Amino acid sequence: MPISGLPPYDDNNIFARILRGEIPSNKLFENEWALAFHDINPQAPVHVLIIPKGKYCSFADFSAQASEAEIVGFTRAVVVVARDLGLEAPGYRILANQGEHGGQEVPHFHVHLFGGRPLGRMVPRE
Ligand code: AMP
Repeated sequence: MPISGLPPYDDNNIFARILRGEIPSNKLFENEWALAFHDINPQAPVHVLIIPKGKYCSFADFSAQASEAEIVGFTRAVVVVARDLGLEAPGYRILANQGEHGGQEVPHFHVHLFGGRPLGRMVPRE
């Protein structure tokens, strides 16, 4: 069950379809816990999405429902992907959008990994 206040997981969201192999992705990394692929509309020289294999709508859902093994496995996968991309020394940014104000478009929890240049302000001025 999703946590209260959130819609149920949508099995037809685009990342669910990527996980099932119904839609191609430009894959970088995959293990038991996570899949990483290039964002289709990159906002930085490196823009990768890392998603858990499990069905979680959002960060809140993942933190509440995932097992400790899933949380550890996923978190470590994010760091491995960043390291494999050579981002450890220059640095990078990870970001997870949640809900309407967060700008979340795809209702399968994902972390954006940005790098390849200085990334500027954390949140743009409106
Ligand atoms: P968010 O707004 O945090 O939900 O981010 C969703 C991200 O998914 C956006 O950056 C999109 O460019 C990206 N995206 C949507 N469809 C695809 C796809 N088929 N392959 C790769 N990235 C995608």
